[in-house]
Amino acid sequence: MKSDLARIVGDEHVLDPTAQYLDDASAASGVHGRADVVVRPGSADEVSAVVRWCYEHDVAIVPRGGGTGYAGGAVPLDGGVVLALERLRAIRSFDPLLWRMEVEAGVLTSTVARLARENGLLYPPDPGAAESSHIGGNAATNAGGPHAFKYGVTGAWITGLEAVVAPGELVQLGGPVRKDVAGYDLRSLLIGSEGTLGIITAVWLRLMPAPETALPVAAAFTDARAGAAAIEAVMASGVIPAAIEYLDAGSVDAAAATFPAPLDDERRFLLLVEADGTRAGAEHAVGELREALGDAVVHAPVTPADVRAFWEWRSAVSHAVTATRGGKLSEDVAVPVDRLAEAIEETVAIGERHGLEACSWGHAGDGNLHSTFLLSPGDEDERERADAAAHDLFAMAIRLGGTVSGEHGIGLLKNGQLRHQWAPAAVALHRSVKEALDPKGLLNPGKKLP
Ligand SMILES: Cc1cc2nc3c(=O)[nH]c(=O)nc-3n(C[C@H](O)[C@H](O)[C@H](O)COP(=O)(O)OP(=O)(O)OC[C@H]3O[C@@H](n4cnc5c(N)ncnc54)[C@H](O)[C@@H]3O)c2cc1C
Repeated sequence: MKSDLARIVGDEHVLDPTAQYLDDASAASGVHGRADVVVRPGSADEVSAVVRWCYEHDVAIVPRGGGTGYAGGAVPLDGGVVLALERLRAIRSFDPLLWRMEVEAGVLTSTVARLARENGLLYPPDPGAAESSHIGGNAATNAGGPHAFKYGVTGAWITGLEAVVAPGELVQLGGPVRKDVAGYDLRSLLIGSEGTLGIITAVWLRLMPAPETALPVAAAFTDARAGAAAIEAVMASGVIPAAIEYLDAGSVDAAAATFPAPLDDERRFLLLVEADGTRAGAEHAVGELREALGDAVVHAPVTPADVRAFWEWRSAVSHAVTATRGGKLSEDVAVPVDRLAEAIEETVAIGERHGLEACSWGHAGDGNLHSTFLLSPGDEDERERADAAAHDLFAMAIRLGGTVSGEHGIGLLKNGQLRHQWAPAAVALHRSVKEALDPKGLLNPGKKLP
C-alpha cells in the first residue's frame, strides 16, 4: 500500500499514523482512531489519484482538515488511509473588487478571514477554532459561529466546490457564478456531508464589503426566561443583530472573572447582542437595542480594542467552562428560538437527573446551545453518566422540534441519532444518496449515517 501511494504523493508524504492524525477535538471523549497510513497529497489531482487507488483496492478513506471537529468525524475508525489535506494551501484566485476568492481546501479559516479583512472585505463565517480549522473542513461540516445569525453558515458563502468523488473523479460543482439552478444542488449536498460523499479540494467563496463598525452590547438577566423574553424584544425592535449569543448562570460563573465589566450575583444570565454597519447606522441600532434591553445592559464596548477583547472573552468561554472541573462533554443541539429557554433549563435538569453539573452557552439567535456536562478527567463513571445525559439531551432537542446537531455534525460520536430525528423514509433517502455517491462505502465509513 505504502509504495503505491508514495508513487502518487512522494515518499515523504506517506506517513505512519501518529496521534496528530488519529484524534480530533473530541479526543477528551476517549475516541482515538486507528489507520494504516497517512497520506498528504499536494494537489487536487493527487487527491483524485489517491481516491482512485483506494477505490480500486477497497481501502477506506478518512479525509482530514484541521482536526478541530467535535464529533470525531476525522477520526479513522478501523484502518485505511487518513487523507490529510494540509498541503492544499493555495489561494487560487482573489478578486477583491468582485468580492470573491477561490482557495484550496487546506487553507486556514483565519487566513481567508484575514485576506478579506486586509482588503476591506468580510468573510462572515466565524467558527471558533479559525486558527486551526481548514476552509475544507468548514465546508464539510457547514460550520457556523456567532455571526451566522445575520450572515448564515459557511455554505451560504460557497458558490462553488471542487471535489473528488468516487471512484476518483475530480468534479466542479458551481464556481464563481453567484446563481445557478441548472442542475441538482450537488454543491449543497457535499456541504455538511462530513467527508462521507466526496473529498472537497477547493471552494469558491463570496465575500462582502466589511461593515465599518461592529458594536456589541451585553445585558444581564435573572434567568433564561427573562433572557429569552429579551431576545424576542430585540427581534421585535427591527434591528437585525449581527449576533445574539447567551451564557446561562453556570457558564457565567465559569467565565465571569475575566468579563470586562462587573456582574452582580442576582443576574447571571447574559445576552450578547451586536449591531454592525456604518458607524452612524450601528450607533443608531445600539440605541434601539438599549431600548429593547432596558436597564439590563451591563457593558457596551466602543473602541475596536475593547470590542476585540469582548469577543476574545466570548471565544474563551468554552475553555473557562472546561477549567472548572478539568473536563466536559459538550453538545451542540439546536431548537426553534421560541423553545430556547426550555432547552436551557432542561439542560441543567438533565444534568441533575444524572448527578452531573451542567450549563450551556451558545448562539441564542439560532437557538443553538452548547449544552455541557462537567466532568473530572479519567472518571469513567461520570463519563458514562454524561453519555446517558447526552442521549436525554438529544431526545429533548427532537421533542422541542430541533436537531441533535446545529453545527458540529454527527461524525462518529452522534452516529445513530439520525434515526431518532428523521423518519425511516428520510433515513432511507440519506442511505440512497450515500450509495449513489459512494457505492463501496469507503468514504469516511461509520460516520454520519446510522
Ligand atoms: C475551540 C473550538 C471552537 C469551535 N467553534 C465552532 C463554532 O463556533 N462553530 C462550528 O460550527 N464549529 C466549531 N468548532 C468545531 C470545528 O472547528 C468545526 O467543525 C470545523 O469546521 C472543523 O474543521 P476542520 O478543518 O478542523 O475539520 P476536521 O475536524 O479535520 O474534520 C471535520 C469533518 O470534515 C471532514 N473533512 C475535513 N476536511 C474535508 C475535506 N476537505 N473534504 C471532505 N471532508 C472533509 C472530516 O472527515 C470530518 O468528518 C469548534 C472547535 C473548537 C476546537
